Amino acid sequence: MASKYYVTTAIPYVNAEPHIGFALEIVQADAVARWHRLLGKRVYFQTGSDENSLKNVQAAEARGISVRELCDGNSARFAALKEALDLSNDAFFRTTCDLHFRGVSKLWSMCDPEDLYRKRYRGFYCVGCETFYTPKDLVGGKCPEHKTEPEVIEEENYFFRLSKYRDRLDRAIASDEYRVVPETRKNEILSFIRMGLEDFSVSRSAARARNWGIPVPGDPGQVMYVWFDALSNYVTGLGFADESALFKEMWPADLHVIGKGILRFHAAYWPAMLMSARLPLPKALFVHGYITVNGQKIGKSLGNVIDPFSLAAKYGSDPLRYFLLRKIPPCEDGDFSIAALEAAYDADLANALGNLMGRITNMAERYAPGGFERTEAPDGLEPDAKAVAEAMDRYDFRAALDEIFGSVERCNMYIEQTKPWALAKDASRASELREAISALLAAGSSIARLIGPFLPAASEKMATAFASRPIRKLPPLFPRLGGKGA
Ligand SMILES: [Zn+2]
Repeated sequence: MASKYYVTTAIPYVNAEPHIGFALEIVQADAVARWHRLLGKRVYFQTGSDENSLKNVQAAEARGISVRELCDGNSARFAALKEALDLSNDAFFRTTCDLHFRGVSKLWSMCDPEDLYRKRYRGFYCVGCETFYTPKDLVGGKCPEHKTEPEVIEEENYFFRLSKYRDRLDRAIASDEYRVVPETRKNEILSFIRMGLEDFSVSRSAARARNWGIPVPGDPGQVMYVWFDALSNYVTGLGFADESALFKEMWPADLHVIGKGILRFHAAYWPAMLMSARLPLPKALFVHGYITVNGQKIGKSLGNVIDPFSLAAKYGSDPLRYFLLRKIPPCEDGDFSIAALEAAYDADLANALGNLMGRITNMAERYAPGGFERTEAPDGLEPDAKAVAEAMDRYDFRAALDEIFGSVERCNMYIEQTKPWALAKDASRASELREAISALLAAGSSIARLIGPFLPAASEKMATAFASRPIRKLPPLFPRLGGKGA
């Protein structure tokens, strides 16, 4: 029986348009999902939207519409990334649905009763982060993320006894029972845990939340704090409320993909909640960095929010995916610019990959339209599938693509060296010609297959061309930008 693989993205707030930073995350998760499908696993890939947040209430108030209307409109934009970026997600799960409400209530009720307790609390609250900060978290009295002054809020809330789980969390992460990648983030969360964990607020007054959110079971004066609610989506989306077959098959998650800013929620709060409810922990957490644009942090105030829809419309989904997966370091911050995207398009996609596929199919059409029995390509011509697999085990998309594009380069050199067009003019060298074309068809098919998780549209065109009889020359996969560019 094929094994299963469950991968998720974080669920973004939907109070703004999707930007290039979230496109990075969802494309990374999509590459992982497609890779495991290629390995023959039953994959479930879930993304969605975090809608029970006070930020949405405020955004709706500012625009004079209902929160529901705001969420419907904005979550539809995030769901539309599927088509724009050629994503293969099985679900787009919204936290305003009944399945989620029932699931979160169930998870709350399953937590060890001694872990959820009421406490009077006074703290610094950043609405942007939906987080209470202690004075030592603040930078110059301001939110470290938003650089704004937090509100001082005093009320009685429910708290989750995170402090109790310090040793168990330490063990789970240090031992890789819950594997945090990369190592730098693993060390960061271990030192955070070892400094001592403070219990965290898991509810707020229904009045402060404007009655938007999930009521605390048995205490309707309180709604759940957004992290308890949002993190739960990873189980509720599978049908946890009803112990569905999908939940039983897919939980625990094989991988959560997140950005570095929400590490502690996913590597401390979330596993502790699961421990309290006696549910199995996810197996791995992959943490990516942030994207800067022309060296600047993305932000509305900077006016440099890059829109993934217009980029994909102009350059195609594959080129945008390619840039994000190969030119942005998988675990560190990376920079995006139109110039760098266009340079990668021309050099790697139009010249190297597109050109190679055009040449192979062109020569096959002329010299071997019926194809050949697949022979082994000469050593090193094909991508090393094992090296690609090892890179994908580390979520190192760049290394996986380095291996595949190394093969593209070797194939282009092989064509220069063997000169099949010259062999074709000499009947006594027919077997050499046959050998060269066979080798290129074998390597080309292998490239087409392995590149699928990263460039799904191009991969399909290549695979179709290689499988067709007679083989016909592929039209350019990546037409040169020419006037299309800046
Ligand atoms: Zn903030």
